[in-house]
Amino acid sequence: MLKGIWTYRELIHPIAPEFQVALGEGNTPLVKARNIGNKIGLENLYFKLENLNPSGSYKDRFAALAVANCLQQGKKAILATSSGNTGAALAAYAAAAGLKCIICLVDGAPFGKVQQMGVYGAELLMIKDFGISDSCTIEVMETLRELATEHDSSLEISAYKFSPIGMQGVQTIAFEIAEELEDVDQVFVPAGGGGLYLSILRGFAKWKAHKQSGLNPTIHCVQPEGNDTIASLMNRSRKEPVALPTSTTKISGLQVSSLLDAEAIMEQTPFNDTDGILVSDEEVFYYQKLLAQEEGIYCEPAGAVALAGLMAAASLGKVDPKKPVVCLVTGHGFKDQQALNKIYTQQDCRYVDTVKQTKEELVKKIYK
Ligand SMILES: *Cc1c(COP(=O)(O)O)cnc(C)c1O
Repeated sequence: MLKGIWTYRELIHPIAPEFQVALGEGNTPLVKARNIGNKIGLENLYFKLENLNPSGSYKDRFAALAVANCLQQGKKAILATSSGNTGAALAAYAAAAGLKCIICLVDGAPFGKVQQMGVYGAELLMIKDFGISDSCTIEVMETLRELATEHDSSLEISAYKFSPIGMQGVQTIAFEIAEELEDVDQVFVPAGGGGLYLSILRGFAKWKAHKQSGLNPTIHCVQPEGNDTIASLMNRSRKEPVALPTSTTKISGLQVSSLLDAEAIMEQTPFNDTDGILVSDEEVFYYQKLLAQEEGIYCEPAGAVALAGLMAAASLGKVDPKKPVVCLVTGHGFKDQQALNKIYTQQDCRYVDTVKQTKEELVKKIYK
């Protein structure tokens, strides 16, 4: 039986059944908030748990289609660049498909994410200044393009600008939301290069066209203040996209100073209702902790950006409290150890000689 993204094979790039690779991606839970919604008076707040994809992020929807397409085209290997989640997803699906995978890592990519790619068996290179200096980035891209043409391999990067076929897999997030919540009013989406955001815009536009649905949710682009390449365009405080000299956010996965899909987003927006929101890194870390402690949802910082954006929008009165609202939780808590250390460290875990001696103390603390 077809599952996950392959349920929507008629709405995405066609792949023959023998090339479809699946590891359980997609069909992720849409969980209703138990506490955070009530606190701000939202009756229908939902979290789309993309952190529960097989490699721990929504990038698996991209990798499943990108790798299947490489198989269908008879490619010999997959080449990629990544700061973390794209590489982990491609490495997993390449392993399943029996394809070799070479990944050029952004200088300073979090080791947890790098380790995951290595465990899946990908060939990894961390390149000095890659993702930091333009000249280095250009050289890496040129070399990968040469390798791809000379050795019949496919260069896959999670943006429409580079991988328009694979990215269609990400549109299935919108299809799943549309199918489950027929009256969804607002969707909050984090953005780095904007490929995910564009996928949600295109996914809803496609759904409306194919299903004659009247659905027209507002799609919010949420970015950290230190990486405002798209959000100010979406709320119309800026007219043209501008690349940044450097990204100053600390949120792993959202440090994308170049424009990638910004221009394509501009061309797409007449078909959707859009808005843009900026949040501080501190707000994001706060909501990462709140998601864990109020909802039981374990995500990396990038996974809490959408909720931080919703909170900012709600405080500006932009959210109808009765209508369904969805926040995408894009990546798993296990991904970023350094960020977890902001919430809880080894020193926070008490080591005691006997439990008896601490019983009274526990009673005071917990049952007071
Ligand atoms: C890649 C990623 C994003 C952002 O996606 P873009 O397409 O670069 O905008 C958000 N959250 C997580 C967890 C990611 O891995």
